[in-house]
Order: sequence, then C-alpha cells, then structure tokens
Amino acid sequence: MGMMSDEKVSGIVVRFADYKDYHKMLTIFTPKYGMLSVLSPASKRPKSPLRAGSETFVFGNFIIKSKGEYKTLTEVEIIDSFYDLRMDIEALSCAYYMRDFCEFASQEDQDSPEIFSLFIRCLTILCHNGVDPIVVRYAFEIKMMGVLGLAAALNKCIECGKDSEKTHFNIEEGGAVCQSCSHNKAATIKVSPQAVNTLKIISELPLDKLGVVKLKANIKTEIDDFWSKYLRWHLDKNFRTADFMDRSKSF
Ligand SMILES: [Zn+2]
Repeated sequence: MGMMSDEKVSGIVVRFADYKDYHKMLTIFTPKYGMLSVLSPASKRPKSPLRAGSETFVFGNFIIKSKGEYKTLTEVEIIDSFYDLRMDIEALSCAYYMRDFCEFASQEDQDSPEIFSLFIRCLTILCHNGVDPIVVRYAFEIKMMGVLGLAAALNKCIECGKDSEKTHFNIEEGGAVCQSCSHNKAATIKVSPQAVNTLKIISELPLDKLGVVKLKANIKTEIDDFWSKYLRWHLDKNFRTADFMDRSKSF
C-alpha cells in the first residue's frame, strides 16, 4: 500500500546525503514502508526546524508529503536522537553495523516491523543501558537471523537432540553439536562449550537484561571465529553478497 499524500510515519533516519547547497536526502527506515528516500529541504541551514531531525539515528515521527515518486519531509517529532552513541566509538560502530544489516535485510515498500523494533531496542540498550557493544551485536545477530528464518540452534545438539555438552558447531546447518556426534561432518568446527553457552545465554535473555553478560576476551575471540563463519555462509547463500559484514571486523 502506498503512502498518503500527507502522512505521519514512525521511523529512524539511517543515512543521509547532501543534496545541492542546503538540502539533504534522508533514508528513513520505517516499520510500515521499509526504507524510504525523503528530501529534507533546507535542513542544512542553521535555523531550519528540520535540522535536528535530519541526522543519522534520529528516531521519531516524520511528517512526509508525497507527490508521485517524490517524498518531502515537512516536520519531525524527535523521540530519541541516540546522541550518546557518538561518545563511544565501539557503540557507534555497532550502531552502524546494525544499520547496515537492516538495510541489507529490508527493502523499500516492504513492511519490516520486526526488524525495525529489534533495531530500535538494540540501539536503546546500546545507548542508554551501557551494555557491551559486542553483546548487543551478538544479540542483534541472533535475533535477526531468527527473523530471516535462519536461526542458529544453540540449545541442543542438532544431531542427537540431547542437551549434552556442545563441543562443536556446524556452520552449514547452523547449530551446536555434541562430542559423540561431531565425527564425519566436514563443516563442523571445534568450539568450547563456554562459547556456545555464552551465545545461548545471550539468545535467551530479554534485551534489557543483557547488561549482566560479561564477555572474556578469549571467549569473544572464539565466538567471533565460528559465529562470523556461520553468518557469512548463510547470508551469502540466501541473499546477495553480505558485504556489510566486513564492518563487524572493526570491533
Ligand atoms: Zn549429539
């Protein structure tokens, strides 16, 4: 369904490009219409009422006028600009990575309420709850893969279904494997049970409780290894090349 000629939509600015001298072209991610390209006229002028609402990561209600293909912003009611993300380079780079993932997984004119809600909730805990950006990233990735129908199985061995200690991870099938089932599987990587359990805990905790998770450096290194292989294998296979994933290496 197309937009009305004047419509107030909830959304978040995910990027902008300068347009002529004083305008900006915004990309606004909305739960209702996916990614929208919207002109924010004269918003680079110092006194523009649209100026504060035309920055990346501004979450709010956007009043948009549509005429054919063209959409123009007329007013913004800011709910949260997630300003403090800019104070922490790791939090900011996590936010950009999640932004890239959202752009990868959603399209214009396609409603994406689950992805939108996940993105806003992850930005909130990242910006306001002081949760370790790496933990936020893992939680976001676990839940995002679930939304895309590619969820990893972290609870039980994917071969025998038993809840015994997980010592391996099968990249192609996207799940943990126990010691006795770990043979004869080419795509199976040896992992520590602590690494799998850490991801399992992150997957089960409500997002606003993630602050309790403290990651040790060696566990993080280990998770990054098999988890990034799992993500890349499934995203490259199911979608176009997942180039945005390279950003996760900046952590
Ligand atoms: Zn097993």
